[in-house]
Amino acid sequence: MSDVEMGVIGCAGRMGQALLREIQQTEGAALAGGIERAGHQAIGQDVGAQAGLGALGLEVGDDVGALMEASDVVLDFTAPEATVRAAAIAAETGTALIAGTTGIEAEGEALITAAAERTVIVRAANFSVGVNLLLQLTRQVAAVLDPDFDIEVVEMHHRHKVDAPSGTALALGIAAAEGRQVDHDEVAERGRDGITGARARGAIGYAALRGGNVAGEHSVIFAADNERIELTHKAGDRAIFARGGVRAALWAHGKPAGRYSMMDVLGFTE
Ligand code: NAD
Repeated sequence: MSDVEMGVIGCAGRMGQALLREIQQTEGAALAGGIERAGHQAIGQDVGAQAGLGALGLEVGDDVGALMEASDVVLDFTAPEATVRAAAIAAETGTALIAGTTGIEAEGEALITAAAERTVIVRAANFSVGVNLLLQLTRQVAAVLDPDFDIEVVEMHHRHKVDAPSGTALALGIAAAEGRQVDHDEVAERGRDGITGARARGAIGYAALRGGNVAGEHSVIFAADNERIELTHKAGDRAIFARGGVRAALWAHGKPAGRYSMMDVLGFTE
């Protein structure tokens, strides 16, 4: 079978460069091209050279439509406006789209869902295979254990992170609540400090640590009297998101139109 031709939007960005590297290293994947936003200094440079990968004989462009036409699958980890626009163009050209940009408002998400009526779109706020596996395991464990098991979500990130708990920590708490069939917002206990009173039975608690250059660590702890289960994921580098993105791109090629998640890519929703 011929390689899946992949295009990268935002190819000079941190994730864009990680995606180029991952495509280069993945069997069955080939690079179709890379583009940047109009006016970006990388435009006109060699796609590989600007990412420190050596010359690949492809120039960084700025035409989304042309990239879509040249690609089987396009990967977009850029900015909300760019990704919503890319989804609309992908619907026109029938190109599959892997959309990893975060911070897209409900209105933009609705436009992505509408575009997915006409082409394949894989949308996830976290493309790490390990984190998606952790979400699934958390849901399963929470479904089995009764509320005598206290659930605590603990995360650690680098000193520059501005929000807490992390979006992934909240997704883990929500997965635990789904497993237990309770309303997450009713049982979540965030930001404990001072005389907080005893822990409520059935609560899902959060703790956030900050320091150093930690890329992201998440643990879900299920603690009962005399026994404790801990599920942990540790991210070392953003390459893990690129790896998941390219895996999603290989999976998406040839699938029927629709909006999919990493859970679909990993086969958890069949
Ligand atoms: P970055 O700022 O390093 O890179 C973004 C790139 O997109 C830049 O080079 C920028 O010029 C380019 N860009 C912006 N608008 C564009 C347009 N209209 N056309 C073409 N290119 C355009 O940021 P980053 O750290 O690489 O993150 C990018 C996005 O991916 C963020 O939303 C981030 O939260 C998200 N992200 C998602 C995951 C995941 O697993 N889903 C993982 C990491 C990062």
